[in-house]
Amino acid sequence: MIVIIKSHTDRAGIDEVIAEVKRLGYQPRPIIGELQSVVAAIGDETTHNSLESLNALPQVERVLRVQKRWKLVSKEARSSPTVIDVDGVKIGGGAPVVLMAGPCSVESEEQLLETAHAVRAAGATILRGGAFKPRTSPYEFQGLGKDGLRLLALAKKATGLKIVTELLSEHDADLVAETADILQIGARNAQNFRLLVAAAKTGKPILLKRGLSQRVEEWLLGAEYILSEGNSNVMLCERGIRTFETYTRNTLDLAAVAIAKSETHLPVIVDPSQGCGRADLVPALCAGAVAVGADGLLIEVHPRPAEALSDGQQQIDFARFAQLAESLQPLLRTVGRSA
Ligand code: PEP
Ligand code: MN
Repeated sequence: MIVIIKSHTDRAGIDEVIAEVKRLGYQPRPIIGELQSVVAAIGDETTHNSLESLNALPQVERVLRVQKRWKLVSKEARSSPTVIDVDGVKIGGGAPVVLMAGPCSVESEEQLLETAHAVRAAGATILRGGAFKPRTSPYEFQGLGKDGLRLLALAKKATGLKIVTELLSEHDADLVAETADILQIGARNAQNFRLLVAAAKTGKPILLKRGLSQRVEEWLLGAEYILSEGNSNVMLCERGIRTFETYTRNTLDLAAVAIAKSETHLPVIVDPSQGCGRADLVPALCAGAVAVGADGLLIEVHPRPAEALSDGQQQIDFARFAQLAESLQPLLRTVGRSA
């Protein structure tokens, strides 16, 4: 059940609802918004008291039974889209489509700074770059770790770009959150629930990739874990799923983007780079993503893709990124999402 609280209710009013939910035998999970707050009541109504009595409280707008397994991420819980404010960069709602770009992995100071300046000049507002890399083989480049974070902080200082970087282990949550403006949860960890909880607890916005073989429902339930910890700054990221197709590394599922947009209030980001694994297809997939309503694009850019220490085949160089950003402009204007 979800208790929708009237807008402009003060904290004491919300706390009163939380206390009442508890008294009735449910676990309250509040999501406090600037305009609207909701309290999810976790518990089985068939064995607990009815929550209908909450309707009598003057600050309660209504009590909703959400039948879906995901509740807090659903449009029933919040009818207006979530807009995440990453230190001045807005993501979601009607905000301009956000370009997040940078290398797959942070490799060196020179590589990162060069890339940061180039993507900023082309219109990106967020710099991506993995410091901790989830590699299939233990013999492949694992990322620079802590030193990679230091370089990301340096790039942020030099360019003003916000940083999105992957959190690979719950043990590093506080460390990565010191540098990251957005914590990325990778596809391989999309159902590492303790990691989701640890990431949620940092209070940072979270970019949640879809798992390699994850159904939409499972993906949304992953986001539900984060919201139920009280962190509602979650953006979903479609990055392709495993199918029988071998022309592409993954099959980018744009239908899932449209579903996530229609079923949830969360911003949805598309990663065409992991999504197909081919640099030549990135521009077309970006256009498709914008057309189905994506709120942002996460694009791998490298000064010399052929020399990249990871994902070289799918990274685009500076000239192609600038060209891509430019070519998206008419489409962004058409959908009313240009900067
Ligand atoms: C990445 O963004 O470089 C990455 C490893 O992504 P994913 O988790 O989607 O494979
Ligand atoms: Mn990559």
